[in-house]
Amino acid sequence: MWHRIHRNVFTHREPKCVTEDDVLICTCEVNPETGLGCGPECINRDVLVECDPAFCPCGAACQNQKFSRKQARSIHWSPYDRVRVVNAIP
Ligand SMILES: [Zn+2]
Ligand SMILES: [Zn+2]
Repeated sequence: MWHRIHRNVFTHREPKCVTEDDVLICTCEVNPETGLGCGPECINRDVLVECDPAFCPCGAACQNQKFSRKQARSIHWSPYDRVRVVNAIP
């Protein structure tokens, strides 16, 4: 059965406990000096909630999305790193 929706639904995301209607929207504004938004004063950060980029008033400038897939996956291994990945399975 088809159901019309009004915005994108991110089916690749882990289901969260909140529904779209429960998304926490902060009242931050982009800092004109730094060009960044959602710093330490962000109410979402206060309650340990990551901003939803689709709803955050700061949009791409939001600094409270560090756990989002995009940045979490930005960790890369350099062949010159001193830390090596070892096979832990004997
Ligand atoms: Zn914020
Ligand atoms: Zn934000």
